[in-house]
Amino acid sequence: MDAQLSNQPMDVLIIGGGPAGLEAAGRLAQAGFHVQLLEKEALPGGKLNQWDKLFPDFHDAKEVKEELLRKLPQDRVSVHCGTEVRQLRREDGLWTAETADGQHLQASAMLLTTGFEPFDAKRKEEYGYRIYPNVITSVELEQMIGEGNIRTTEGKVPQSIAYIQCVGSRDEKVGNHYCSVNCCICAVKQSIEAKQLLPEVRQYCFYMDLRMTGQHFEERYRESQEKHHVNFIRGRVSETALSQDGRIQIKAEDTLLSRPVKMEVDLLVLMVGMEASPSTKQFAQELGIADPYGFYLSADRESADNATAHPGLFVAGSGKRPLSIPKTLKDADAAAWEIAAYLNNRTTK
Ligand SMILES: Cc1cc2nc3c(=O)[nH]c(=O)nc-3n(C[C@H](O)[C@H](O)[C@H](O)COP(=O)(O)OP(=O)(O)OC[C@H]3O[C@@H](n4cnc5c(N)ncnc54)[C@H](O)[C@@H]3O)c2cc1C
Ligand code: SF4
Repeated sequence: MDAQLSNQPMDVLIIGGGPAGLEAAGRLAQAGFHVQLLEKEALPGGKLNQWDKLFPDFHDAKEVKEELLRKLPQDRVSVHCGTEVRQLRREDGLWTAETADGQHLQASAMLLTTGFEPFDAKRKEEYGYRIYPNVITSVELEQMIGEGNIRTTEGKVPQSIAYIQCVGSRDEKVGNHYCSVNCCICAVKQSIEAKQLLPEVRQYCFYMDLRMTGQHFEERYRESQEKHHVNFIRGRVSETALSQDGRIQIKAEDTLLSRPVKMEVDLLVLMVGMEASPSTKQFAQELGIADPYGFYLSADRESADNATAHPGLFVAGSGKRPLSIPKTLKDADAAAWEIAAYLNNRTTK
C-alpha cells in the first residue's frame, strides 16, 4: 500500500484519505486511471478511525474502512500515509502538490478530499468544556462507547447523562449559521448505545429542533424514546455550573412547556458540529474557492458540484459541506465520474 511516492505525473492526485478520497480512488482506478492518494495521518480512513458503530444501522466503522481499502487495485492506486500536503498550484497544465517534506507531485487532475474537523467545544465557554470535569464531546463519548466503558472523570458509572445539540452549529455567536446534519442522529445513536451499556442510566437530550434527515433516522429516534426512554427536551441550555457534589448543573428553558428547567447530571455530552478542516480552509482560501465558512465551493451546486472554478481541480466529501458517510461516498462517486469525463475529454481532443 505505501509504495514509493512517484515523481512521474499521474492521472489523478487525491489529497486526503478519508471515506471520500478512498472511494474516489477506487472508482477512478476501476475506470483505468492511475491515482496517487496522499494522507497526512499514519492510517487511511479519516474519521472512520474515530467512530465505533455508525448511525443509523450500527455498521462497524472498521468494516466500512476495510471494504473501501479492499476495493483499491494495487496496480493503479498507491496510498501514501504520513504525507501531508502543504501547498497546491497549477503549472504547465498540471496540478502540483508540495508535501511537508518538500516533494513535488504532479497530475493532470487533482481531487481535494481534506474533510472536516469537529467544532472546538472550548469556544462555547458557557457549556463548561475543559472548565468542569464531566463535560465531554460526542467524539469523546464515541471513544468510551467503543471501549465499552462509559465513566465519569472520577471513574464512576454515570446515573444520568444529558446531551446538548447544535454545539457550534446554527449559532450566530460562533459564526456558523449552517446545520451540521449529523449530530441529531448521532445523539440518538449514542443514547441508545449508552442505555445498552448502562441499563439504569437516565438520559435527557436538549434540542432546538430534531432533524432526522436520512432513511431510518426517524425510526431510531422513536426507538430511543419508546424503548430506551430518552427524554427529549425542546430548549436551549443557557448555562452550566458545577454543583457542590461535583455534578453538572444545567439551566434551560423548555420552550414547548414554557417553563424553566434545572437539573443535575453526572455527564454532559456536547454534540459538536462540523467545520472545514484546517487544510480545507487553507486550500479553499488560497485557491479562491472558499464559501463563507471556509468549505470548498463547487463550480455549480446543481450541475457541476464536484468541479471548481479551476480546470482539472475537483472537490468531494465533507470538505464541501457537512455530509454523512453514505452521502460522502455518493459524492465521491460523482467526483470520480466528473474527473474521468475531464481526462477522457482531454485525451480525445
Ligand atoms: C461526532 C460525529 C459522528 C459521526 N458519525 C457518523 C456516523 O455514525 N455515520 C455517518 O454516516 N457519518 C457520521 N459522521 C460524518 C462522517 O464522519 C463524515 O461523513 C465523513 O468522515 C466524511 O468523510 P471525508 O472523507 O469527507 O472527510 P474526513 O473523514 O474528515 O477525511 C479527510 C481526510 O483528509 C486528510 N487530510 C486533511 N488535510 C490533509 C492534508 N493537508 N494532506 C493530506 N491529508 C489530509 C485527513 O487526515 C483525513 O484522513 C459523523 C460526524 C461527526 C462530527
Ligand atoms: S443536525 Fe441537529 S444537532 Fe446538528 S446542527 Fe443540525 S439541528 Fe443541530
